[in-house]
Order: sequence, then C-alpha cells, then structure tokens
Amino acid sequence: MSDNSPLPSRPTNFPWAIGAALIGAICAGLAFLVTHSVPVAALVTTSVILSLLLGWVCASWFYNPLTPNMDPSALPSGTLDPIANAMRFARKAIEATPTPVIIVDQGGAIIMSNSAARARFSLGVSRARFATAIRRPDLLDAVDLVLATGQPVTLAMETRVPVDRYERASVAAFEVSGVPFVMLSLTDETEARMSERMRADFLANASHELRTPLAAIIGFIETLRGPAREDTPARDRFLEVMHHQADRMSRLISDLLSLSRIELNEHVPPTHHSDMALLVHDSVTYLHPDQKKRLEIVVARQPVWVLCDPDEIIQVLTNLVDNAIKYGDPSEPIRIFVDGSLNRDDAMSASMRQWDDAARLSLTTPEHDRDRHYAVVRIENGGDGIERQFLPRLSERFFRVEDSASGTSGTGLGLAIVKHILSRHRGGLTVESELGRGVAFGFYLPMPTLPAFEADAS
Ligand code: ADP
Repeated sequence: MSDNSPLPSRPTNFPWAIGAALIGAICAGLAFLVTHSVPVAALVTTSVILSLLLGWVCASWFYNPLTPNMDPSALPSGTLDPIANAMRFARKAIEATPTPVIIVDQGGAIIMSNSAARARFSLGVSRARFATAIRRPDLLDAVDLVLATGQPVTLAMETRVPVDRYERASVAAFEVSGVPFVMLSLTDETEARMSERMRADFLANASHELRTPLAAIIGFIETLRGPAREDTPARDRFLEVMHHQADRMSRLISDLLSLSRIELNEHVPPTHHSDMALLVHDSVTYLHPDQKKRLEIVVARQPVWVLCDPDEIIQVLTNLVDNAIKYGDPSEPIRIFVDGSLNRDDAMSASMRQWDDAARLSLTTPEHDRDRHYAVVRIENGGDGIERQFLPRLSERFFRVEDSASGTSGTGLGLAIVKHILSRHRGGLTVESELGRGVAFGFYLPMPTLPAFEADAS
C-alpha cells in the first residue's frame, strides 16, 4: 500500500450488482413488451439477476488466484492464462530481487519468498508459517503490527553469529482484490556500518597519534620560554627532542596521505609492466653504503615482468627493506629473493614456507586465478623474530610490536600501506617468523599474460 492508509475492508462488488440490475431491468422491459404480464416480467427479471450474481459468486470462489491456499500451478490453462501469468510474473520478479523478500498472508503463512530469503533464513521452498520459520520475535511483532495497522515499519537488526551482520528490515502492507498481505524485505548494511566504524576508528587513532608529539613540542616550547630560558645545554637537548617529534608528525602526515591516496585507487588495477629485479635495485639505491653492504640480492636469470604501478611497488620494497634494517639484527645480512612464473599457490609457498619451525601467516591473499603466473619477492632479516600472536595484527594501522619497536622511529603505518598497495595489485602479502632466527616478509604479484606482455615489450 503506497499511501500508508490502514487496510480497507473487503470491497463490495458494485460493478457486478449494477450490471446485474441493468440487465435485469432490460430483460423486464422486453418480457413486459412481449407478454404484457407484470408477474412474468418480474419472474424473468429475478431469474436473470439471480443467475448473474450466482455466476459471480462461483467465479470468485473458484478463480480468485490470490486466495492464500491456492497453488497457481493448479490453475487450468487457457481461459485463466492471464491470472496464472500474473502469478508467474510476481514470482519471477521477486526471485530476481537480490535482497531477501518474503510475502506473508493475513493468516501468517509465507506465500512467496525468493532464494535470497530462503538462504538467509534457511527456509524450504514449501509453504511454512512465518512464526515457525523465522525465529525472530522482533520480526514477528513487526509483521503482526503491520497486518493490524497497515502502517509500514522498518527496524534495524543486528546478528552476531556466525559473523557480525547489520540489516534493515522493511515491512509493508498491500492488498490485492481486498485481500491483505505483508511484504518483508531486508537490506544488508554490514559493509556500510563496518566502513563507518573503520573510518571513525581511523580518525580517532590518527588524531591520538598526532596529539602526542604535538603535546610534547608544546611542553618543550613552554619550558624553553620559562625555566630553561638561560640553560643552554637543556635548550639544545629540548630542541633535539622537538626536532624528533616534529619529524615524527611529518612522517605520520605523509604516511596518512599515502594511505588515503592508495585507498582511493584501490579499485583500479595497475596496467604498467616493469621488471621486478630493476625495481628491487631502484628501491635500495638510496641506502647508506653500510646498509647496502648487508644486502644479499638473489634474482632469477630472466627478467621478472610484473603488472604494476612502479612507484607503488618501490614503496612496498622500501618499507619492507627499511623494516628489515630497523628491526633486524645489524650483524646479520638482509636477503632478498626474486623469482617469477609461479602459480598462485607456489608463489605463496615461495614467499612464506622456507623455514621449518617458523610461524607463518598470509596477511592478504588474492583470489585464485588458474591462468595467472606470479612473481615473488621475499625479504629475510635475522633477529629475535615476532611472536606468533602478533602476526595477524601486523598490517593493522598504528600497530607496533612493543619490544621490537621501542627505540626505533616508525608510525605503525608502513605495513598497512604495503597491504593496501598489494591489494590494489591483486597480489599477496605474507610473513614468516621464527623466534631466535628472524623474520621474512614476502609478497607476490600477477605477471602480464603473454600476448599483452609481448605487445608492450615490443
Ligand atoms: P613501523 O615500522 O612504522 O612501526 P610497520 O607497519 O612498518 O610500522 O610495522 C609494524 C610493526 O611490525 C613494527 O613496529 C615492528 O614492531 C614490526 N615489524 C615490522 N617489520 C619487522 C621486521 N622485519 N622484523 C621485526 N619486526 C618487524
């Protein structure tokens, strides 16, 4: 019911009654003209009206397709095709609706449902009573209320098991030939609610992270203007700390901007072709000679072409190599392996299954694509390793493992950036960690398919 008015009572069939009266009057006139007898004319009129009304009663009794218990497939073909077609049309239209839809009659029986609704509520295809099939008191109350008042109702539904799910149920009444029905439809709002929550968390975290260095800088400025005004050694020390905090804020802002830029592009897969070995070399040129000495780079003999945005992959390599330098044992080498032409599962193994006793985790995994070849990069550093329970949190924004991160500069955004870039590239990110041995981060990226690659390389 689009006008939201209460359900009307079943209407009387005025057109039939008026039609019957008119035909009766015409028959009465004709009978009187022919017989000139009032009783005969009255008899003819009464029988005509009665047979017309009887015909209507029989027709509506047997053929009303919306009589709740009538199965449209039982309708005879031929004369009733329009009715059966209307039912089939309604069924198909509801079935084509991607969100769950259920139609209930005034007696509480489910007379139609689509496959989305059957999957959502584990309903069978046969008719069931709404109250027994849908075990949600809030929905049952809503359907009862709408049947009683005719007013539409919407309600927010939260489900915790098996996963968090947020839905909005809309229950509305409509009527066909005076028979009332109720339609229940569900809209899944989980994705919108989750991203809203993530955004709120992110803003709260970002402002918290910026507030700490800012408060430190303000505190030092006040000290320098007051008690430490004439204390030269203290002033130098404070300026050093202020410089460090300002530097941290600037890195935070630049990492936050990178992250938003990458997120904006995440749905657009890159199309450029680059050789991974060259990207690895480009990403380590800026390193200090002492740091370069620690590198052991092993690349495949042939060029390893990847479909990528070269600047973004250089950023991935830079973040991972910087971490290996920052958190690894400085007396141990940093090993970088590059290989190509592997299927997805072999690429995943090459990036994270190299140490027998290690804990390992895939931090992001692309969809399986049987026809794709992948290039893989693995960066190993020696050191204490990361405890198993921290592995799932490594790519969370602002997460830092307390022990390894203490005393090192960092924003806790480096691996989150790496993960987003790899998601955009339809690639994977892995970590392998063995306590007392070290840590290895690995990633793999799709390689171009052959014809595209040849066209590009020529
Ligand atoms: P950041 O380095 O800015 O703190 P990241 O997101 O790059 O942030 O890393 C998150 C945390 O993961 C780091 O703080 C550190 O505790 C841990 N981590 C990252 N890489 C390594 C590594 N190669 N070895 C040991 N710990 C690491």
